[in-house]
Amino acid sequence: MGLRVLTIQCALCFALIAFIASLGPTTGPASGSTAAATFEPPMADMTAGAGSDPAPSSTATFSSTLWVSDVIPLVLAATPAPAPSVVPLALPATPIAPVPTDPCAPTRPLTAPAFIKSGPKDRARVAVTIDDTFGASGAKNVASVLDIAKAKGAKLTFFPTGGAFDDHEKAGLSSVWKRVIADGHEIGNHTYSHWNLLKLADKDIQDELDSTQGRLDQILGFHYEMHLMRPPGGNGGYPDSRSDTNGTRVRCTVQRLGYSMAMWSIDSNGTSGFNDYLYRLQTGVVTNGSIILLHFTTFSVANVSSLIDTLTKRGFELVTVSQLFA
Ligand SMILES: [Zn+2]
Repeated sequence: MGLRVLTIQCALCFALIAFIASLGPTTGPASGSTAAATFEPPMADMTAGAGSDPAPSSTATFSSTLWVSDVIPLVLAATPAPAPSVVPLALPATPIAPVPTDPCAPTRPLTAPAFIKSGPKDRARVAVTIDDTFGASGAKNVASVLDIAKAKGAKLTFFPTGGAFDDHEKAGLSSVWKRVIADGHEIGNHTYSHWNLLKLADKDIQDELDSTQGRLDQILGFHYEMHLMRPPGGNGGYPDSRSDTNGTRVRCTVQRLGYSMAMWSIDSNGTSGFNDYLYRLQTGVVTNGSIILLHFTTFSVANVSSLIDTLTKRGFELVTVSQLFA
């Protein structure tokens, strides 16, 4: 009767008693008693005994039965003490600040200030720059200017487009750019198509610069890494005085690509022709660190020669844009 009550009383007892059995003999009756309580053998076996154990009486059988109240202390005694709970480490009082990421951070070292309008004022040095050099005439004018600059000891900076390289190659004149490098002048990137960068997506700006670098390397036959760029029409480089929609984005993109944006401090805007411009340049607007912008469309090779003479007489050393910052 007691066994049936035990069986119905709590299904958990089976699991608990099996657990006790797995621990081996206990302080209670022989394992046969445990088996009786667990598997409920026939009463005859219980009364007749089994094996070499003394034949227990029915009273002994009843008393050898494990009740839940008997088992629980045994289980508790056999159950390992719970591990001490883990106390989480205290967090630092001061949270770690996230590392800021600059979307304009250059992906290669800049060799000059990120944005250039003029050079340092502490030395009598100026930079004469010549843009575009479109067409076969552009290559011929560059060649003539190289002869003059070599004779007068001047260093110049050229900003040709990738399209101009195509023109010069078609005309069989692209070797002039090898002379530019050999004579110690500088070449900056003026994009391939001469489009308004304010109207181009970042990826298109990069394509314009990359393709121009690629074309220059092709016509040179070696890699000459350009570190300066000049935006066509200056678009993207007027943060102070002109309408500059998207200019911040353009300057950020250019800087991220590892270029210094090289603008100028003296240009031909506001003059009626190259003679007026030459007059201005020769009569005082040039100061230490000036960067002078020229185009062959409005400034002849003869004008370049005259300008070099005038600046040299005034005590200026003509250096490249990058040399202004060296
Ligand atoms: Zn241009």
